[in-house]
Amino acid sequence: MIIDADAHIATLTCFDRLRDKEWQRTYIQNNQCFFVTVEEHIDVARSQLQVDRQLINFFGGSVGLNYKIDSCLARELMTVYNDYMSCLVQESKFFDATAWVAAQDPRSAAKEIDRIADQPFFAVFLGDTTMWGSMPEMRVIFERACDRRIPLYLHFNLDQDFDAKTLININTDARLALIDRVSWSSHSKTDPLAPFLKMLTSLIISGWLDDMPDLRIVLAERAIDWIAPYCDFMINAGLPNPLPYLKQNFWLTTEPEHPGFKQDAELIGWDRLLFATDHGHGGMDAGGKNVPYDYSTIKNLNLTPKQHTLLTNQNYQQLKNR
Ligand SMILES: [Zn+2]
Repeated sequence: MIIDADAHIATLTCFDRLRDKEWQRTYIQNNQCFFVTVEEHIDVARSQLQVDRQLINFFGGSVGLNYKIDSCLARELMTVYNDYMSCLVQESKFFDATAWVAAQDPRSAAKEIDRIADQPFFAVFLGDTTMWGSMPEMRVIFERACDRRIPLYLHFNLDQDFDAKTLININTDARLALIDRVSWSSHSKTDPLAPFLKMLTSLIISGWLDDMPDLRIVLAERAIDWIAPYCDFMINAGLPNPLPYLKQNFWLTTEPEHPGFKQDAELIGWDRLLFATDHGHGGMDAGGKNVPYDYSTIKNLNLTPKQHTLLTNQNYQQLKNR
C-alpha cells in the first residue's frame, strides 16, 4: 500500500452550497484551468503515480481559503468545504482529506476541530508561514487539536498569511528576525524558506510544545534538507535546539528526490517521514515537476523493507489511527 501524503484537487462542485454566489463565481473563474473530475484525478494517481491512497488538501491560493477574508464568510467556507471533503472521503475510498479552519476566528476554528474530529479527516490544515506561536489567541487551535489527538497539517499557503494590520496581538519577537540574516536558498529546494523557519521558531520559543508534548504536527512540502543547517543556526544563535522538538511533535512529508535524502532521514528518524507527490499542483511548486517519478525515486534508493514501509504507509497509518 503506497499512501501519498500530499495531493491537491480542484473540483467544480466544491462550493455549491455556499450562499455567497459571487464568491463561488470568482472561485470558478480563477480555477478553470485546474478543474478535473474525481475520476480523472484518481486515474492519474493510480496509473502514473502508482499510489493507492491520497491525502487531499485544498487547491492553492486561488481557491481563496485564506486568512485575509472576512471572518463571517470564512466561517461559512469552513463548514461548506469540510462537509464537501467529508463526503468525498466517505464516497471515494481512495481519498483522505485535511479539514480547513478559519483561523481569523480562533474560537470558531477550535469549535470546528471539535465538530470534525470524529469524522474521517486525517488532519487540520494550517498555513505554514503564519507566526502561530507569536499570536496568543491562536493557542486555542493548537490545544484543541492536541486534546482531540488530530494532527495539524502545516502546508505552504502562497500569499495567504494574516494581514498584520488586522491583528492586535502579534508579538514581534526579535529572535525571529535573526532568521532573515541567513541566506537559506542553498540549504533547501523549497523556497522561500525563511518565513517557514520563522513560523517553526515561533512555535519552538512559544513554550506551547513544552506544554503539549502530545501535539502532532505534519510539516508538508518542505522536504527535509533544511533540518541540519537550521539546527546548527539555532544552536549558534543561542536558541533552543529544534531537533528534540522535531522528534517529539513533528512529522514531515517528503518528495525524496533531493541529494542527501537518506542522510537527512537518519537525522530526523525514519519514523517521522511521510511519502508525498504533491499531485495536482501542476509542476510549478517545489516538488511538482518530479511528480510522475516520485515513487520510482524511492524504489531506486535501495531502502530496507522497514524504511520503505515506514515511509510509504506505516507512519501515516499511525497518525491516522488516533
Ligand atoms: Zn502540496
